[in-house]
Amino acid sequence: MPTMRKVANAFKLAAKAFGPGEYAAAGKVIACPHCGERAFEAGEAQLNKALSTFFKLDWLDETATVLACTHCSQILWFGKKPARR
Ligand SMILES: [Zn+2]
Repeated sequence: MPTMRKVANAFKLAAKAFGPGEYAAAGKVIACPHCGERAFEAGEAQLNKALSTFFKLDWLDETATVLACTHCSQILWFGKKPARR
């Protein structure tokens, strides 16, 4: 069924776009400092400030990009989102 195949291919493309991948920051490919792996899962983490937490306004705080190594799970933090390669 051609339509089902197109849907399956779209899912594969989406998984590739949002799955593990290589990233670069400041013009350099990011490699894990622990094991040297270059494939990372990307995510976001909120940078909470004590005052905004006190007033329950954490959702206004800035976010950082975190990259988790797919081999050893070391987590790297970036203030600016690294470019996916
Ligand atoms: Zn690693």
